[in-house]
Amino acid sequence: RAKEKGGNTFQMYFREMNHRSLEQLNLENQLRKALDKNEITLFYQPLVDLQTGSITGMEALVRWKHPQGMISPADFIPLAEETGLILPIGNWVLRESCIQNKKWQDAGYPDLTVSVNISVNQFHQPGFVKYVQQTLTETGLDPHRLCLEITENVAMKNVTYIMDTMNKLKQMGVQISIDDFGTGYSSLSYLKRFDVDTLKIDQSFIRELSGDEDNMAIVTALIAMSKQLKIKTLAEGVETQDQLNFLIEQGCDGIQGFIFSRPVPPEQFEELMRSQHHLSKVL
Ligand code: C2E
Ligand code: MG
Ligand code: MG
Ligand code: MG
Repeated sequence: RAKEKGGNTFQMYFREMNHRSLEQLNLENQLRKALDKNEITLFYQPLVDLQTGSITGMEALVRWKHPQGMISPADFIPLAEETGLILPIGNWVLRESCIQNKKWQDAGYPDLTVSVNISVNQFHQPGFVKYVQQTLTETGLDPHRLCLEITENVAMKNVTYIMDTMNKLKQMGVQISIDDFGTGYSSLSYLKRFDVDTLKIDQSFIRELSGDEDNMAIVTALIAMSKQLKIKTLAEGVETQDQLNFLIEQGCDGIQGFIFSRPVPPEQFEELMRSQHHLSKVL
C-alpha cells in the first residue's frame, strides 16, 4: 500500500512537473514571438540629481505587454537569459532607447542620458562593442548620452575581457554604471580599474535604511568610498522622505525611486520633462 501511495505521489508530482514545463515551453514560445508582435515595450524612470533636484536622465525598463496583461522583467528576463532570447531582446532595448532619446533631443527636450540594462550574456556576446557603436551611429545619439548598466556579476567573469570592453566603450564616450551594487561579488579594487562613472546602490540597502544601523553604515561607507574614487553614487528604490534626507546628508549624488516617479511610458515621461517636475516638491 505504501508503494501504491508512493506511486500516486510520484505520479502527481510528475504530472505537476510536466504541467509546469509545458507552461514554461508555452511562455518561451510566446516570448520568442513577442518582439515581432511588438509586445515588448519600454518604460522610463527618471534619475534625479540631488544637488539641483532636476532630472538628469532616465533608465529604460523593459515590459512585456502580454495579451493577458503586463509582465514585469523580473518574471521574464530570467527565461530570456536561459533561452538566449536576451540577445535579440537586449539589442532591441538598446536600439529603442537610443532612438527614443534622440527623438526627445531633436524635439527640444533637455539633453538627458539614457541608461540601459545590459545582461551578462549580452556583455559577453562577441561583437558587443561593435553593436553599440553601430547603434549609436545609426540612431545618431551622442555617445555621451548613453549609459550602460551592468551588474557586478558581469564584472567578475573575465577581468581582461571586461577591462578591454569597458575601455573601448569609454573611449567611445559611453558611460558605465554598476547596477545593484552591494549584492554581487565584486572586488572593490575593480571599481577603480574599470573606470566606472556611477555606482548604483542596490535598493535592498535603501529599503531598510531607517532604523537599520547596518544598512546606514553600509550606505554611508559606499558614498564616502565612491567620493574618494571620484565615482558618482545613485541610490535605487528611494520611497520615503527619511531615506531621501539621509542620502542628502551623506552627499549621495542622485536618486531613482517612487518618491519622485515610477517607471512610466514615453508619453508620460514627456509630461515629466515638460512640467519640469522637480525634486524640490518633495524636499
Ligand atoms: P534594475 O535595473 O535594478 O531596475 C530598477 C528596478 O527597481 C525597476 O524594476 C524599477 O521599477 C524598480 N524601482 C525603482 N524605484 C523603485 C522604488 O522606489 N521602489 C521599488 N520597490 N522599486 C523601484 P523593474 O522595472 O521591475 O525591473 C527589474 C529588473 O529587471 C531591473 O532591475 C533589471 O535588472 C531587469 N531589467 C529591466 N529591464 C531590463 C532590460 O532591458 N534588460 C535587462 N537585461 N534587464 C532588465
Ligand atoms: Mg538597472
Ligand atoms: Mg538596480
Ligand atoms: Mg535590481
